Amino acid sequence: MMANLPAMVSLKHFLVLSLALNVSLILRMVYEGDHYQQGSNNNNNKMEGYNRIIGKSRLAISSITSFANSTRKDRSGIMDKVINLDHGDPTMYEQFWRQMGDKTTIIIPGWQSMSYFSDPTSICWFLEPEFAKEVVRLHNVVGNAVTQGRHIVVGTGSSQLILAALYALSSHDSDKPISVVSAVPYYSSYPSMTDYQKSGLYKWGGDAESFDKDEPYIELVTSPNNPDGYIRKSIVNRNQGLLVHDLAYYWPQYTPISSATDYDLTLFTVSKSTGHAGMRIGWALVKDREVAKKMTKFIELNTIGVSKDSQLRAAKVLKTVSDCEEEKSENGVESFFKYSYRMMEQRWKLLREAVDSGDLFSLPKFSSAFCTFLNQESETQPAFAWLKCEGDIEDCESFLRGHKILTRGGKQFGASSKYVRISMLDTNDNFMHLIDRLSTIQTKQQQ
Ligand code: PMP
Repeated sequence: MMANLPAMVSLKHFLVLSLALNVSLILRMVYEGDHYQQGSNNNNNKMEGYNRIIGKSRLAISSITSFANSTRKDRSGIMDKVINLDHGDPTMYEQFWRQMGDKTTIIIPGWQSMSYFSDPTSICWFLEPEFAKEVVRLHNVVGNAVTQGRHIVVGTGSSQLILAALYALSSHDSDKPISVVSAVPYYSSYPSMTDYQKSGLYKWGGDAESFDKDEPYIELVTSPNNPDGYIRKSIVNRNQGLLVHDLAYYWPQYTPISSATDYDLTLFTVSKSTGHAGMRIGWALVKDREVAKKMTKFIELNTIGVSKDSQLRAAKVLKTVSDCEEEKSENGVESFFKYSYRMMEQRWKLLREAVDSGDLFSLPKFSSAFCTFLNQESETQPAFAWLKCEGDIEDCESFLRGHKILTRGGKQFGASSKYVRISMLDTNDNFMHLIDRLSTIQTKQQQ
C-alpha cells in the first residue's frame, strides 16, 4: 500500500496522513471499548477495558505501521458526522461515575425534603447542612480555597450565583447601574446574563482592560479562564472595584493547584468539578455577611431556594470524591481527580499532535507548575481549547462549520473571529472524531 503513494508525497504529508488514519483506528477501538463496556456487568472489567483503550490509543498514535489497518471506506461515514463541541457539556466524566456503581446513589423517600427550609439558623436558610459540610471538606482535601470565616450560599448552578452576586454587590440607592466588566476573552455568557433583563442595578461594561471610568465597577475574574485556560488576576485594580472570582475550573484536572484562594466572593460549581452539570448546583464562598444575606435574598426572590434533592445528591457525590482521596472508600477506588487529570492529559496530547501536524491551526502554550494537590509538577490542560486559525482564514468558526465541526466563535468572547472555543469535555466518540477531522483537514490542505 505504501509503495502506491505518489512519489511527490513528502515525509510531512505522510506523517499527517498517518496521524489522521491512526485516529480512525483509535475511533474504532473506542467504539469497541464502549460496546465492551455496555455488555459487561463487572465494574472492574469496565475500568480495565477503558484503561486498555487509553493504552492502545497511545500505542496507535505512535505507530506508523497501523497505517495499513485503516481503509478509506471506513472513514467516509466518519467524515459526514456533525461534531458539536459548542457547549462545555461535561459528558466525558460519565464513564468514571458509571464505574463507581452505587457509591453515589441516593434514595429519597416521598416524605423527605418537603419543607422549603433547610437550616433556619443559617444566613442561607435553604442550604442543606450535609451539602455545606461536604463543600468545606472537599476544599480542605483539594486545597483550592479557604473556607474558614466564609458564608456558603448555594445556587441553582453558579449561573444563578453570578446574578445573585451582581444583585448583592450593586448599590440599590444609586440612580445609575454599576458597570460589570471582564477581560477579553471573557466567558461568552457574561454580557447576556448581565443585560438580558435590562436591570437598573447593573449593566455590561465590556472589556475590563479598557475600562477607564472613575466610578464603582464589578469585575468578573475567571481563573483558569473560560475560554483560553490561563490563570487570571483582577486587572482594573482600582479602589472602587468589587470582585467576583469565578473559579469554576480551579480543580486539579485542569490546572495546577498553587494555593488555597482567599478572595471576598468566590464561585464554584459541580458542573465542571465533578461533571454533574445536570444537577444544577453551584456554591459561593462569601466573606461579607451582608453580601451573603443579599445573595440569599436574590435566590429567595428568584426561586425560593435551591432544590434539596439536588443538594443531597451533590453532597453524596462530593463525599464520594473526598472519601476516595482520603482512601476511606472500600477496595481502594480510584481518585476522581487523578483519573480525570489523566483523561485530560491524554486528550490534550492527542489534540496537540493533531494541531502540530500542519500549519492551519495553533493552540495556547502553557508552562507546567507544582500542584500542591497532586504533589508533583502538573500541566495546564483546560476544559476548552482556544484554537486559532492561522493564515488567511479570518472566520475560524465558519471554516470549521464547513467541515462539520461546531464551535463557538471568538467574537462571542469579545475576541477575534480567528479564534474558536472547542469543548474538551465531550464524549470519547466526539473527541476522537474531532482529532480525526482536524488531522484530515490539514492533510487535505497539504495535498
Ligand atoms: N462560569 C463559568 C466560567 C462557566 O464556564 C460556567 C459553565 N459553562 C458557569 C459559570 C456556569 O456553570 P453552572 O451554571 O453550570 O454551574
